Amino acid sequence: MTQAQTPAINGPVSQAPIIQGWCPGALRPMQSGDGLVVRIRPRASRLTPDQARGIARLAALHGNGLIDLSNRANVQLRGVTDASHPALIDGLRALDLIDADAADEARRNIITTPFWQDADSTQPLAEALALALTAPDAPQLPSKFGFALDTAATPCLRDAPADIWLETGAQGLLLSSHADLALPVTRETAVAEAVALAHWFITNGGVSDGRGRMAALLKRIPLPSRFASRRLPAAAKPGPGPTPQGQLVALEFGQMQAETLLQLADLGPLRITPWRMLLIEGVSDAPHLPGLITRADDPMLRVIACTGAPGCLQAHAATRDLARALAPSLRETLHVSGCAKGCAHPGPAPLTLTATPTGFALIRDGTASGTPAREGLSASDLTETLFRELP
Ligand code: SF4
Repeated sequence: MTQAQTPAINGPVSQAPIIQGWCPGALRPMQSGDGLVVRIRPRASRLTPDQARGIARLAALHGNGLIDLSNRANVQLRGVTDASHPALIDGLRALDLIDADAADEARRNIITTPFWQDADSTQPLAEALALALTAPDAPQLPSKFGFALDTAATPCLRDAPADIWLETGAQGLLLSSHADLALPVTRETAVAEAVALAHWFITNGGVSDGRGRMAALLKRIPLPSRFASRRLPAAAKPGPGPTPQGQLVALEFGQMQAETLLQLADLGPLRITPWRMLLIEGVSDAPHLPGLITRADDPMLRVIACTGAPGCLQAHAATRDLARALAPSLRETLHVSGCAKGCAHPGPAPLTLTATPTGFALIRDGTASGTPAREGLSASDLTETLFRELP
């Protein structure tokens, strides 16, 4: 299609995706175009080498061998079938990666900073918070409601899809949510105060029809007045490269083959980040494995793309080949989304291409459901000439 043939622009991308309202788990997988998606929630966002090796083998045996990292620091196996799911769960349970039941699994929604050190409070807090969220009297939170443990030297998880943060402050630990202000807590009180804030969320009408997020509630009411301390500025999202804790590596589209995970497991424990990157503990040299991004200037870091067709039932087009083809010519971040839901990047991006039944819509500085600047674009339009001509 030429520029002159581009259809008129009417409004936001309108093909409404199905909103599931819940996240898949291991015990409650979600159907997708390539089978069941089984999401594993590693404790403290960390896999031991044995766990990583075991996941890789189970993914090849019971799934299609593709492994995703989610923006909640979880690990997803794809292509699982109803028939293979029970044996997969048995294997994951033997690796200590399965909760007592699906309700516990859904509530144990914790993202942990990858930059923790043995001397800080992160590991004991992660264990105590997981215990509190799976206790019989735990708050009955919506399944997308989550916690961030951002308790390394500098906070870095401010943009993570969480609702309640425990983080490092100028004088010690702080508890907060989407506001600028926080409540000072101690190692001893932190978990109890975080759970109390979750109860406050429920008591103040944060849940409706089993759904709800803290950001929506805080648009209606402020946090309690005792939240009065200033939060520290958060560090920017890091890129691949060496860190004091080990080597940070990204994955193309946050996905790898089971074989890659098998090889990574031989290097050391893996910390799972919400940036679809892995931190390989104690490793100073970047490993060279297929699909691994080890340089901060790699053009593949400028593209984000969801599963798309055929892996997702809601997708109107394939996404990743297009994103890969466009990556070298990009100067800013491009999000390619298989539908208006924008799973891979819910927030705005400088450029977004959203697949619709009539071609791709181009959205500038918006989300996948934003108002298009152009519509009806084909993948070949974009890869051959048109993309470079866009204003
Ligand atoms: S954004 Fe992508 S992965 Fe999410 S529902 Fe749409 S097509 Fe599927």
